[in-house]
Amino acid sequence: MKILVANIGSTSLKWRLFDFSNGTERLLHKGGVERVDNHARAIEECLAALNSGGHLGRETDLAAVGFKTVMARDVSGCVRITDRVLAAMEAFNSLAPAHNPPYIAGIRQFQQRLPGVPLIALFETAFYQFAPEAMMRYAVPEAWHRAGVRRYGFHGASHKFIAERSAELLGREDVAERARRLYVDGGRTPAREPSLRVISCHLGGSSSVTGINNGVAIGTSMGLSPQSGLPQNNRVGDLDSEAIPYVMKTLGLSVAEVQRQLTRESGLLGLSGFSNDTRDLAEAAEAGSESAKLALAVLAASARHWIGSFFFELNGVEAIVFTAGIGENQSQLREDICRNLDELGIELDPALNQATRATEAVISTTGSRVKVLVIPANEELVVAREARRLLESNHIPLPTNDFTHAFTHNKEQTYASSHWTH
Ligand code: ADP
Repeated sequence: MKILVANIGSTSLKWRLFDFSNGTERLLHKGGVERVDNHARAIEECLAALNSGGHLGRETDLAAVGFKTVMARDVSGCVRITDRVLAAMEAFNSLAPAHNPPYIAGIRQFQQRLPGVPLIALFETAFYQFAPEAMMRYAVPEAWHRAGVRRYGFHGASHKFIAERSAELLGREDVAERARRLYVDGGRTPAREPSLRVISCHLGGSSSVTGINNGVAIGTSMGLSPQSGLPQNNRVGDLDSEAIPYVMKTLGLSVAEVQRQLTRESGLLGLSGFSNDTRDLAEAAEAGSESAKLALAVLAASARHWIGSFFFELNGVEAIVFTAGIGENQSQLREDICRNLDELGIELDPALNQATRATEAVISTTGSRVKVLVIPANEELVVAREARRLLESNHIPLPTNDFTHAFTHNKEQTYASSHWTH
């Protein structure tokens, strides 16, 4: 079974082709085109690359194309893409302006080009469907909540991969299986005692921290939009809502200009004044730049804030995991984040930490009660795996998963019954 995963940007298309034949998982091909002004042409280039490389006999050999879509109104999980799903994504264009419009446009091109091939969306919000309401709710008036103002959470594919992989590495196959089957049975696969508690830190171009209990997310640093939680490369992260009317009045900024500055000129770029990339910041900090040091310190402080929050909520954890570009590569930042936590049983091994780059490793001391792990991100594989599970289930998935309903009534049943009805 061959599944193509397409990562659609406003001017790019990246892809990976996976083969799940004979019980194996193989990455057959990976490629991409940048600076495209036309998704139709990019798709042709992708298919041509797969054909010429001999990876795909006929296009109809594709069992599905999977997409790591960000968010949609009242739809989440892993679903077959229909016009209703696309309309639900469109309804949230303003919350994910950099992601939803290009995905919708690209998916429509795939629909035209490959009409017989199922297109499947795995929403980045999916992993948080089962988190307790109290962890996901904002204290806003009911009408705001009904309008969709709530925490959704993002980086779901990445954190779900960490939930599965960390459980495997910690010898808890029962929890790994529970995490794998999460979107099929809503977390009802039983797990042994004691429960496995993990904090997953996805630190990259955008960053989030998620608490995970027995393979299921209990909360996330990300909120209504990917514009929250930790400071991101160019995006602000958490900000007091009063700051917006205040700068509009005192600096005379329009709403559009405020949004532009909060999404393009804030985060690590705003703090340092010269770069959004931690590689530049680390180099400049080494050379004495105070603004670079500050940017890195704010990122570390915010990561500690969220790790601490989930550590408390979970009553301690078995493991803290670092993943994504910064989490996998920036050993100094990992050290800064884990500094002075020995009373909580968290002790980094400086040499192991320093030596670890973009590879799976334990970087805590042997005596550390809490294991600290580095696990490279593998989001596309999660999309492909979920698409496969959806295809192999005997149900026809209907995109009727309603967040409000799911979070306010009988959560577990809602997912299973509305999402997987015949
Ligand atoms: P995204 O997919 O969100 O764009 P990544 O997870 O690839 O982001 O992370 C990108 C960020 O990770 C970069 O901005 C940089 O700060 C950091 N990074 C990426 N690669 C490295 C590396 N080899 N060494 C140090 N930092 C890196």
